[in-house]
Amino acid sequence: MTEQPAFVVVGASLAGLRAVEAARKAGYAGRLVLVGAEHHLPYDRPPLSKAFLELGDPPPVPHHRTGEQLRELDVELRLASAATGLDTSAREVVLADGKRLRYAQLVIATGAQPRRLPGEQLPGVHTLRTVDDARAIRSAMDAGCRTVVVGGGFIGSEVASAARKRDLSVTVLEAAPMPLVRAVGEQMAPACAALHARHGTELRCGVAVAALEGDGHVERVVLTDGQVLAADLVVVGIGADPTTGWLQDSGLELDDGIVCDATLRAAEGVYAAGDVARWTNPQFDQVMRLEHWTSAAEQGAAAARNALDPGNATPYSTVPYFWSDWYTDKLQMVGITAADEVHVVGDLDGERWVALYRRGDALVGALALNLPGRIMKYRAMIGRRTAWSDAMSFAAA
Ligand code: FAD
Ligand code: NAP
Repeated sequence: MTEQPAFVVVGASLAGLRAVEAARKAGYAGRLVLVGAEHHLPYDRPPLSKAFLELGDPPPVPHHRTGEQLRELDVELRLASAATGLDTSAREVVLADGKRLRYAQLVIATGAQPRRLPGEQLPGVHTLRTVDDARAIRSAMDAGCRTVVVGGGFIGSEVASAARKRDLSVTVLEAAPMPLVRAVGEQMAPACAALHARHGTELRCGVAVAALEGDGHVERVVLTDGQVLAADLVVVGIGADPTTGWLQDSGLELDDGIVCDATLRAAEGVYAAGDVARWTNPQFDQVMRLEHWTSAAEQGAAAARNALDPGNATPYSTVPYFWSDWYTDKLQMVGITAADEVHVVGDLDGERWVALYRRGDALVGALALNLPGRIMKYRAMIGRRTAWSDAMSFAAA
């Protein structure tokens, strides 16, 4: 007998989990399958570059849900089972073992994967995306190591923070003249970069890695200008690419992610969510692909709801939000950085400040250091398209 088509979700992490939860919440009572390449139950990634690297007993895997909770949702779990292809005309997902899964609705949530440097196969050189990566980095830190981080973005900054908390020496190498420009904009990047110097991390910008060398284990990083840095641990955090390789022959439009409409629809019955999805965000009328926790969670739920009721599908509109923990500080950003003006309230050398981003006469972004009680208010104001003058009055108060 032919298998009944199911509601299939590919990618068993944050966006995928939220998709299966939302499907049940919306009243879907049919067969629900969650396919994941990793052997772990869905787990949370943010702690991997933060609490997971701290001194002390090794933390458990930060699972989002227990196996029991997923059984209660009646989710058929296919873990350690990568999807290798998609046939949209037969409405089938092809799995690594050659089996095919028929779908009535499909949500793709395969996330992103780290970019790599040549020479990365040398022991002692790691990327950081999975819990297994985090365990390996943690072990190296436990052994006490000279740490070099390639890339001054989120991974680089958080790994440097963890290393300094353990009093390890750490150097961050950034190819661009200033790190985090894409995340916080040119004007605020120096203020973020300054946090490294305050906490004893050496940041070298405008440098490029020529080779990672060592005899059986990494021993040094060679730069293109001839400088050599001794290292026992090298963490490569040079960005991530959406995981779309398995979709090359699917007919879906791929362009730095899966191209979707405003409702996250990629094709008939096919929706995408999380780091892998590129869609038009009605809030800014702008095509975006976000690599942040909050949007991945929200999109997973939105994609599932729209897949179940395409006739009433609603656009997914959001004010982007991310946080990042550096040393003893919390950086939080809401909105976008494409602005005509950035106005700072507070002392950039102090412990707390907020930078407001103006486009036209509206508030479009806010970046805050150690102001967790305020940042969501700015998020709501951006969502309401609050006038710049009102935002300035709020900031002054
Ligand atoms: P992912 O979490 O990448 O999950 C995709 C899943 O799909 C993976 O489990 C993968 O194995 C699986 N998969 C891939 N291909 C296939 C396939 N062919 N078949 C089956 N399964 C497949 N964001 C913040 O806002 N704040 C933070 O502080 C923060 N910290 C972070 C720290 C780290 C170390 C990392 C890596 C990310 C962090 N993020 C943070 C980003 C946030 O975790 C991601 O945006 C979020 O995990 C994206 O969720 P996702 O489900 O879209 O993708
Ligand atoms: P990222 O934030 O994009 O930062 C990568 C940085 O490395 C950028 O500054 C990039 O510069 C630079 N770079 C690129 N190639 C380089 C090279 N060859 N040598 C030196 N520097 C180079 O990416 P990431 O830090 O690797 O993070 C990976 C993923 O994890 C992202 O999805 C990120 O959102 C997620 N993450 C998020 C958080 C958080 O939100 N708190 C924490 C950890 C991880 P250019 O920009 O000029 O390319």
